[in-house]
Amino acid sequence: MTLWQLFLKIKPFVTPYKWLVLITLTLTLLGAIAAQVNALTLQYAVDHINALLKSGQGLAHGWQLLITISLILLSKEILNLLIQFGQKFYGEKLRILITQDLSQNIIEKFLTYRLAFFTQEDHQAGKLQTRIDRGIGSLTRLVQIFFIEIIPLFSSAVIALGLMFYANFWVGLVALCIVPIYFWLTFRQAQKLGNWRRNLRDGRERKSQGILSIITSITVIKSFNREKIEAEKQLKLQSDLTQNQMHTRQISFLFDGLKTFIEQIGVVLIIILTAYFVLAGYMSIGMIMYHVLLFNNVSAPIRSLHRIYDEINDAMVYSESFFNILEADQEIEASGQLQPQPLQGQFELKQVDFFYPNGHHALKSINMVIQPNKITALVGLSGAGKSTLISLLDKFYVPNDGKITLDGIDLQDMDTVYLRDHIGLVLQKNHIFQGTIAENIRYGKTSASMQEIIFAAQQASIHEQILKLEKGYDSDATMLSGGQQQRIAIARMFLKNPPIIFLDEPTASLDAIAAEQIKHSLDQIKQGRTVVIISHSLSQIIDADYTYVMQDGEIVEHGEHLELYQQQGVYKSIFDAMAKSLNIEKIAKTFEDQDEEEQTHS
Ligand code: ADP
Repeated sequence: MTLWQLFLKIKPFVTPYKWLVLITLTLTLLGAIAAQVNALTLQYAVDHINALLKSGQGLAHGWQLLITISLILLSKEILNLLIQFGQKFYGEKLRILITQDLSQNIIEKFLTYRLAFFTQEDHQAGKLQTRIDRGIGSLTRLVQIFFIEIIPLFSSAVIALGLMFYANFWVGLVALCIVPIYFWLTFRQAQKLGNWRRNLRDGRERKSQGILSIITSITVIKSFNREKIEAEKQLKLQSDLTQNQMHTRQISFLFDGLKTFIEQIGVVLIIILTAYFVLAGYMSIGMIMYHVLLFNNVSAPIRSLHRIYDEINDAMVYSESFFNILEADQEIEASGQLQPQPLQGQFELKQVDFFYPNGHHALKSINMVIQPNKITALVGLSGAGKSTLISLLDKFYVPNDGKITLDGIDLQDMDTVYLRDHIGLVLQKNHIFQGTIAENIRYGKTSASMQEIIFAAQQASIHEQILKLEKGYDSDATMLSGGQQQRIAIARMFLKNPPIIFLDEPTASLDAIAAEQIKHSLDQIKQGRTVVIISHSLSQIIDADYTYVMQDGEIVEHGEHLELYQQQGVYKSIFDAMAKSLNIEKIAKTFEDQDEEEQTHS
């Protein structure tokens, strides 16, 4: 990205604050004029003192001059104080407001992106977070540099250069010649550093992703005693980063040295040239001071140019990835317009093929009908593609080939918000947000009253347990156990009360009693809805009206329980394995023994 492109991209964020920009720029111009006062005053002072000394008048007549100079310099400093305060304050205000807008914009934007955006390897949480943070940081820094540093310094430099030319063409020319050399050096430096900076960015992202992954997997790391290995992985990342930083610094220091050298040559040339004109009688001695101070005003911005350039380069590197996120319009979730009412809830999949963004062929030529008022079960070993299928029904992903319809309408043409409003999704591991239990349940229906929340919790068999907590419904939901959190998620779905329900192993993390209670509640709300359930629980599978058996992304068998069992195929082998794992024979024997005992007693 070029600086101009970057400027065009930031422009819409600056435009709403044009008044702030105008105030800052006006103050800047005043500051630039004030900055030349020192040079003028000192030249005036030196020349007058010189004249007084030559005419033999000492302190007696010098007082008046000293008081005048002091008053001018003092007034200028006071004025400068006000100008600088105003300029920094308004510049900072601009930065803060733009930061706020950028953050809000990117959040609002990526919330609209499809799920595939977030599951790409390059978009892991840590990487995205670093890119967004650094992007916003460097973009706003750029705005700040522009208004608080570049414009003030450069306007001061241009005025100073103008004054030098006005005083003497040759002196002005010397000052002017130094500028392009300096610019060229800075440009070369930036070019040399460009790739290293990109590497530095990638390294930083990898490192923060690494730290995040350590924190989230700390239990596994500890249980396998892999602390050392994890630390070594981090060390490798860190040493790459360090090497990169060292190289970047090395280049910077080399160029910084060269630039200081050029600047000093400029000062010496100006002193020599002005001294020559003074000796030749073309100028007063005060001009030496005048030119040196003016040249200082010219070289001050140039001196900070490399730092500004560094920051602009940083901003370009980081903002590139920031804008890649902000402008990923191709990632925006597609939505149709149709909102069929009432929703019958019949899904039909025709020759559906689906590949994950990494190329994995997860669903292959799927044909299936999911009937309303029925429970459809998806059975298969893990990795068969069952959850993927549900993700497609929820429009989280779009099929690469084939078609999915709901009540005869292509899902692509259906309003996504409307569709999801009518779907309740309960996953094996559900997300609990930071906040209270009540807030977490209310997520299912933001307008729900406390009565409704309690009723949903009762249906999800968690109400009694919530009441036992010290703060009841105001307790922190993240502190609940996995099984309790699962029931909160189920309560959330009960509250939403949707006509279509997808259950992806909803009772897998529950204890037997809770699972039984939930099964009972689910049985109740299944009536009159479309229910798709993925389950490894025998009882839930037997309860299904119709079952699809999946293997390696394909549907290999489908039918009702008995019919499927008699096919002696995949379903039978999975079903038998489940029964075996339950040790059905011993369970049956336990019940038989119990019965016999009861009979003999009676
Ligand atoms: P199931 O629910 O039957 O256990 P999934 O639908 O979760 O299976 O996964 C089906 C296949 O797709 C698996 O091989 C899995 O590794 C792969 N898969 C799942 N999610 C992704 C993803 N985000 N990116 C790439 N492959 C994935």
